[in-house]
Amino acid sequence: MQIDILGVSRQFGSFLALKAVDLSINSGELVALLGPSGSGKTTLLRLIAGLDKPDAGDIRFDGKSTAQRTAGERDVGFVFQHYALFRHMSVFENVAFGLRVRPRKLRPSDAEIQRRVSELLRLVQIDWLAERLPAQLSGGQRQRVALARALAIEPKVLLLDEPFGALDAKVRKELRRWLRRLHEQLGMTSVFVTHDQEEALELADRVVVMDKGRIEQVDTPEALYEKPATPFVNRFLGDINELDGQISNGRVLFGPVDTSLLPALRMVDGAAKLYVRPHDIIAEALVPGAPLSNSGTVRFISSVGANVRIEVEIEGGLPVLEVSQTRESFAERPLKIGERVRLAFRRAQVFPSE
Ligand code: ATP
Repeated sequence: MQIDILGVSRQFGSFLALKAVDLSINSGELVALLGPSGSGKTTLLRLIAGLDKPDAGDIRFDGKSTAQRTAGERDVGFVFQHYALFRHMSVFENVAFGLRVRPRKLRPSDAEIQRRVSELLRLVQIDWLAERLPAQLSGGQRQRVALARALAIEPKVLLLDEPFGALDAKVRKELRRWLRRLHEQLGMTSVFVTHDQEEALELADRVVVMDKGRIEQVDTPEALYEKPATPFVNRFLGDINELDGQISNGRVLFGPVDTSLLPALRMVDGAAKLYVRPHDIIAEALVPGAPLSNSGTVRFISSVGANVRIEVEIEGGLPVLEVSQTRESFAERPLKIGERVRLAFRRAQVFPSE
């Protein structure tokens, strides 16, 4: 199912929670809505689900307006963070619920319900728990029941609001991979809300980054990480160094750091900010006698994990720069605390100061 969101706004009292949002989601895509708290992610998801109505704009499913269709008429399954399972019903009955409440004409036979629910429980790998009550399950198992229940009605669109929010890190990772496989297997269009960038980047085909009721950027995880389109996306995704500087006659000056070797930056003169990722900074021991421009002093080294993290203090009142190197390249040319290093940037993004 293709979903087109056209100029959608939503206002609560005098507060504009969504501001003329445009977004197209392709059939079969897995899309993440990512943004800080209050950016409008859940509001947008609820509008797609039909649980709320936009004040302006339209949402189309396969080209047809959904304005006159209730949540029940939209072929959507949804899963919320606080998955409210029916406490007095077994796992099996929770999953069967969406089928049993269908109008008599559309309701499958008991045998068919039995077959479908059993198949779904196998799919989400909890068939052995069918007779248990929700209180007798772990958080991860309950979340799987909530997913099976959403899938029972065979939705064309699956909407998930922080589906793994309440679970511990290890279970989250496991369920994430499993959701990705399930999405591919069933061929649905899926949209999930998260404020966890790792979750969005790892799981989604495309990520929609939201801030203050607007979409900042929509892109593949790779493109978002490598080419953030706005200062907000730079700051929001991954570790980043942020430097204040000036642009003068087309040259970019960040204190003593000479960025003239960066790809041509077509910018007007004035105050600017430069964003550079820790792994895009090269820090090498300064050869004695070399000019001191573009240099700094190593203040801290941490070698826990896959990469070595080095903090370098540059002269000129700039913040401490965070540099990341692979263990291998650090082992080849190790640095020491207090050592002077030459700095170069492989890549950076420059924006006029906000
Ligand atoms: P979170 O990650 O914290 O869930 P979110 O990005 O999902 O945040 P929304 O739940 O969409 O944010 O809320 C966006 C803004 O709209 C918030 O400032 C919220 O307070 C406001 N808002 C949402 N629903 C209502 C409502 N029914 N009445 C008034 N304000 C609301």
